[in-house]
Amino acid sequence: MSVLIFLDQSEGHIKKNSFEAASYGAKVAELLGTSAEGIVFGKVNDDLTAMGAYGLKKIHTISGEAVNELDSQVFANVLAQAIEIIAAKVVVFANNLDGKSIAPRLSAKLKAGLVSGAVALPDISNGFVVKKNVFSGKAFANVSINTDVKIISLNPNSYKIITTDGTAEVAELNIQIPGAKVKVTAVNKVSGEIPLAEAELVISGGRGLKGADNWHLITDLAKLLGAATACSRAVADAGWRPHHEHVGQTGLAIAPNLYFAVGMSGAIQHLAGVNRSKVIVVVNKDSEAPFFKAADYGIVGDAFEVMPKIIEAVKKLKGI
Ligand SMILES: Cc1cc2nc3c(=O)[nH]c(=O)nc-3n(C[C@H](O)[C@H](O)[C@H](O)COP(=O)(O)OP(=O)(O)OC[C@H]3O[C@@H](n4cnc5c(N)ncnc54)[C@H](O)[C@@H]3O)c2cc1C
Repeated sequence: MSVLIFLDQSEGHIKKNSFEAASYGAKVAELLGTSAEGIVFGKVNDDLTAMGAYGLKKIHTISGEAVNELDSQVFANVLAQAIEIIAAKVVVFANNLDGKSIAPRLSAKLKAGLVSGAVALPDISNGFVVKKNVFSGKAFANVSINTDVKIISLNPNSYKIITTDGTAEVAELNIQIPGAKVKVTAVNKVSGEIPLAEAELVISGGRGLKGADNWHLITDLAKLLGAATACSRAVADAGWRPHHEHVGQTGLAIAPNLYFAVGMSGAIQHLAGVNRSKVIVVVNKDSEAPFFKAADYGIVGDAFEVMPKIIEAVKKLKGI
């Protein structure tokens, strides 16, 4: 019996969410008196033995042309076989785009209980109960998983990354990789932009910025800080910014270390996508704006006066 952690990688590098999932999985293993192991698909450039620092004893690699790109059906099929070989009883994913597409398929394949969006370690004092976010982060639910194999996908920024001195053993797992039902023929990436879903820092603008022409107030600060840019749905609907930047209930849900919101009211549908951010800073000229209730730091002021000052201050700090 072991705890298996799916390690997400992009362009050969293990993603930060996986360090969190590994630390979480290692703690679950400790609670259950067993060991934690990782599994990674495709060509990886990172030194996988270093994953031992996050509490993993062994890393199983799955190589081959067919697994270099994410195909959630193929990955779920391979994972189902791996779980049987490894005799894993708990499987942990990061609740990011990859985890969201693979974990439910794996759950259906194995008829295994899944808690998606977990925010805490399982309570094993009476069964296996996992706390998760519900109603867009407005409430919690404690869900008991009763199946033999248990699947958890962990919300980003829900568990701290813990490092130790360990190193992991790395070994290829020989598994029959099924043929893909779909084929990725091209990947067109937006270049020159930091991907919003993975960004640590996000600068975001709302309707208070009055129009697309004023967006330099957002992009200038984002460039200086190496941050991604985001916006409210109202802004994307108005065509001021592309829809892939829209965050919230009907847009992307993100959990960066810093969410810096300028000229946004903080509508409940917007907060649903950003309220898991570690630190929220709000700039709004209306001191009664609902966003201030969710903010860690707030500036009551006109964005057109405040933002140039912040940009200047950051430039000064950086010696630009
Ligand atoms: C079913 C449904 C789903 C939705 N999903 C989403 C979603 O996913 N994401 C989302 O964002 N919205 C969503 N919405 C829309 C949401 O309800 C709000 O209408 C939207 O978030 C408002 O965007 P905003 O804050 O940019 O604009 P506004 O609500 O117009 O707020 C503008 C803010 O800017 C401030 N302001 C004005 N001028 C200045 C200035 N010069 N300096 C500083 N501050 C200034 C104002 O005080 C105000 O607080 C959804 C709505 C529905 C009904």
